[in-house]
Order: sequence, then C-alpha cells, then structure tokens
Amino acid sequence: MSKHLLIGNWKMNLLPEEATNLISQYATLTKNSKQTQVGIAPTFLAISAVLAESLHNNLWIGSQNAHHEKDGAFTGEVSAAMLKTIGCSFSLTGHSECRHLLNESQDLINKRSSGVLDYQLKLVYCFGETLAEKEAGLRSQVLLDQLLPIMELINEKNQEQLILAYEPVWAIGTGKVATIQDIKDSVSEINEIVKNTKPFCKPPILYGGSVKPDNYQQILAVQGISGALVGGASLKYEQFLELYKISENS
Ligand code: PEP
Repeated sequence: MSKHLLIGNWKMNLLPEEATNLISQYATLTKNSKQTQVGIAPTFLAISAVLAESLHNNLWIGSQNAHHEKDGAFTGEVSAAMLKTIGCSFSLTGHSECRHLLNESQDLINKRSSGVLDYQLKLVYCFGETLAEKEAGLRSQVLLDQLLPIMELINEKNQEQLILAYEPVWAIGTGKVATIQDIKDSVSEINEIVKNTKPFCKPPILYGGSVKPDNYQQILAVQGISGALVGGASLKYEQFLELYKISENS
C-alpha cells in the first residue's frame, strides 16, 4: 500500500526561527513513520532554514508556489529549478488563495505546474470550486476546467510526480468542511477525468479545507482519498500530532 500523505501549508506564517522550532518537532514525530509521508510548505523565507533542520529524515519540504522559468527578470518569484537545487521535494500550485486573492489565471497556473514537473519536483496541484460555483451547480464543470489542462502536462515519465489536492474554496480556513458525500462525488468525478485523459496515471488525491482532528478520520476513510492538505492545523503541533496519529492508525 502506498503511504498516506499529510501535507502542511504554512501560508504566510512563521519567521525562520519559529519555523525551524516547529519543524524539529515534526522531524522527531515522523522519524519512524509506518504509513505516513509528511510534507511541509513554509514561506520561501524559511525554506532554507527548515531544510537544514530536517536533513536526513522522512520529511518532505516544499514551497507554496513556483515559477516555471529557470531564472531571469521575474520580480518577486522563485523558480522550481532553484527550489529543486536547494533540496525541496514538492511545490503547490493553483492554491485558492493564489487563484482568488492574487488573481492567478489558469494559464499562469498551468505554466507554473509545467515548471514544477520539468524540474522534477512533486506537483501538489490544488483545485476546487467556490461557494458561488457550488451553489450554481457548476462543481463538475470547474473540476473539468481546472484538471484538464494539468492532465495535458502528464505523461508516462512524469506521472508519479502528480498529487491532486481537491480543496473546495468555501472550506479553506472557514471551519466548514465538505460533506462526506460531496467528497465522494468529487473523488469519483476526478478519477473519471484522470481515467479519460491519462488512463495510465493514478495520482493520490488529497482533500483540503478545514481538516481537523475531529473530522479527519471520516475523511481519510473515503475510498480514493490518500490524505490531506492542511493549513491552520499544520501550524499547531498538538493538532497536527492528532492528524498524524489518525493517519498512522488508519
Ligand atoms: C489550505 O491552505 O490549503 C487549507 C486547506 O487551509 P485550512 O486547513 O486552514 O482550511
């Protein structure tokens, strides 16, 4: 069986010293994990410090976004190539805060995702519908629109780099969690899209959106869910510890 994935997104939180303190707790926790792969995405500012603190253990360290060009005049950006060189394992792309607060277009997200794949990082691709789209009955269309361009980037060689993170936008940081039936329906639609586009590809599917110790057991039990992308609860050691225990024992 492949391992459960538990990916923490620290967003714009924690200075390097605070980040290394927290990562050293996670490094100790995950040293002997049986069936959980933990990954953490700190701010760009803290990545180097966190990598140094977590060398030679089971943790994946990654970034919250990445630029597709190797280097050049791209003010404010960090490239997938640079992240790979310093030792990152993965990058998120398409996070709802980038889509909706920073207005990243699907076209830009496709380019970023292609860079992440080209430089051999794992791609944790985030996608999901807004509340307005859900209420208008547009979820299936949004899944198609956001997944098809990414599936076009996938081939037999890079397929193992892909991790899909389904995150209904209305559930992120709000305390509202999708119902188990919603998650089941989305997983089956996602699988259908993957099967119809790249039948050889079987990417792990994560759920994200207000995952907490009191709802994670049920979410992880949904067939086809391999783990979670966690924001708020990954900043609090006690909460993350509970998620990790659920993952290890499920
Ligand atoms: C996220 O940032 O991807 C996320 C799911 O956040 P939260 O767990 O806080 O809802």
